[in-house]
Amino acid sequence: MSPQKSDMSENNSHLPALISRSQIETRVTEIGREITDHFAGKELTVIGLLKGCFIFMADLVRAIHLPVHIDFMEISSYGDAQQSSGIIKIVKDLRHSIEDRHVLLVEDIVDTGLTLNHVMELLETRRPASLHIAALLVKEVKQELRYPVEFRGFDIEDHFVVGYGLDYRGYYRNLNYVAIVEAESQMKLF
Ligand code: 5GP
Repeated sequence: MSPQKSDMSENNSHLPALISRSQIETRVTEIGREITDHFAGKELTVIGLLKGCFIFMADLVRAIHLPVHIDFMEISSYGDAQQSSGIIKIVKDLRHSIEDRHVLLVEDIVDTGLTLNHVMELLETRRPASLHIAALLVKEVKQELRYPVEFRGFDIEDHFVVGYGLDYRGYYRNLNYVAIVEAESQMKLF
């Protein structure tokens, strides 16, 4: 997707929208419907990967019309802030067992897919009845993703993005749309 000039009016920030609030709203409702249909008649455990998932997940679960349990996991990735090393450490583990549960893992953005690989491998060892992935954003695939992202919001080009839960140095998570952070705007946080 490319930045939309018409969406610039809907914010006070210096960052133009790549994906507007209304585009996100429409898509999240659609994904919620896809998930509801896919898991019809079942209960779902929705696991959010903190912190980036928190806004997407809050909207997504309200668009899923099934009995759901919610849990969260926080992991940290070694390496610099903008580059995933794929080596992760669990900072906060799940509170509940997922054995025999239908699990939907919610991720903010998939870049290299390394984070997902590690988390999915770990969750598989806990014997869920099924394990699926929902991600708001999927960057241009650099290699085949080992685990398919069945429920995805938007495919985007390889830019560093913020907003709607995603941060740059801890900021911008509360932006209600998704924007690209270019080198120049990285210097100016507000
Ligand atoms: P992966 O392991 O797939 O390369 O990276 C996934 C994680 O890296 C995401 O959960 C997110 O925390 C971070 N990440 C990757 N790309 C971006 C981006 O464009 N913006 C932000 N804010 N975080 C990103």
